[in-house]
Amino acid sequence: FSSLKISLKKSQCLIATVVAVILGTVLGVLVREYSSLSRVHKHYFGFPGELLMRMLKLIVLPLIVSSIITGVAALNSDMSGRIGLRVVIYYLSTTVIAASLGIILVIAVKPGVSPGADSTHWTGLTADISTLDTMLDLLRNMIPENLVQACFEQVCFQGIASYFHVSFQNMTKEDILMGSYSDGVNILGLIVFCLVFGLIIGQMGEKGRILVEFFDALNEATMKIVQIIMWYMPFGILFLIAARILEVQDWGIFRKLGIFIVTVLSGLAVHSTILLPLLYVAVVRKNPFTFAWGMAEALMTAFVISSSSATLPVTFRCAEENNRIDKRITRFMLPVGATVNMDGTALYEGVAAVFVAQLNNNSLDIGQIVTISLTATLGSIGAAGIPSAGAVTTVLVLSAVGLPVHDIPLLIAVDWLLDRFRTMVNVLGDAFGAGIVQKLCEKELVRTVTVRELDAASSL
Ligand code: ASP
Repeated sequence: FSSLKISLKKSQCLIATVVAVILGTVLGVLVREYSSLSRVHKHYFGFPGELLMRMLKLIVLPLIVSSIITGVAALNSDMSGRIGLRVVIYYLSTTVIAASLGIILVIAVKPGVSPGADSTHWTGLTADISTLDTMLDLLRNMIPENLVQACFEQVCFQGIASYFHVSFQNMTKEDILMGSYSDGVNILGLIVFCLVFGLIIGQMGEKGRILVEFFDALNEATMKIVQIIMWYMPFGILFLIAARILEVQDWGIFRKLGIFIVTVLSGLAVHSTILLPLLYVAVVRKNPFTFAWGMAEALMTAFVISSSSATLPVTFRCAEENNRIDKRITRFMLPVGATVNMDGTALYEGVAAVFVAQLNNNSLDIGQIVTISLTATLGSIGAAGIPSAGAVTTVLVLSAVGLPVHDIPLLIAVDWLLDRFRTMVNVLGDAFGAGIVQKLCEKELVRTVTVRELDAASSL
């Protein structure tokens, strides 16, 4: 009975989230069909959801900073190097696999090819951002000029930002796009700083201990606030979903882009239910679906709020409590993963770029296809873990191979839907990564505990 009680307690939050999604959908449909609310009133409808998003965004900064610093400081320098290498290999290889899978699928399915059209090489309007610019912007974001400013300003891609200002004045969703791109935090820059800072204070011995303890306490306090937010979560989710259903104006677009949507969703399904689980089984030798089920609440949250960063508090809880991943791994892998490891986004960008080429009857050569997979990987690393960031960085991929950008608004019209699915895959990829790296570093983790215990014992 007691184990039943524990598992019921664990599932409580998941059940509450599922119920909130269902009720939200029903409420949204009912209000949409049967009420005569004006647009303004419908807008008020989303207010409880807006409050939830504000809470989640609010907690992301202290959560990321305190988790990464304490996580890295708890590892010894030798071990952090070895774990770091495995993390980088996992992140890069799974992202490249995802981008390539997307490209293979879209080339096979041909969602953008109209029968009988001649293939040509595009010579019209393209954005002027090269792969080199993309790399430089990524590096710029990694080294913020000012740490305080980095906390409230998303540095973003200078190339894209100027491009959008100039050419997309009339774009329907431009406000949302620029809004999501300029608000928030330069998380990538903060992560790099926290990784270095954590490593250094971890090596400083007695002198560094006070800082380690400070960030440990900050981490604990932040987690307590997260618990409070979790109580509000189902309520906020209910209204987020309902308000979204009220907002959608043009359902017809889905019919037009149907095959493109199906291609993206199939790619995401293959990656998340076949490739990642296979990798997990090969390394960890445990049931990957039990593991994925443990992450269910985080996946549902990612689906509702379309942001890996804002989902982070839930991802932590699922990974640590349900899947029992070591805190030293989760603390630095999950925040870093939420920002740089986006398999779903890379897959989407690969599909989107080839789709645009097909729409414009452009036959891509092998060099362009390789460039697309590379820039899709870079674009996904550079995209922030916020809604629709991946659709914006698709501009980078298109421009790297000289494809036109006038079809971007078409992609953005359906992005609110695709974004949800790719964010789920992004979060799942981070979680599997933490499970896999934990297994790969089993010996080192045990050894560090022993060293730390010895340390503690000798200081008594
Ligand atoms: N919304 C995604 C995320 O937060 C990023 C994207 O737009 O692809 O993971």
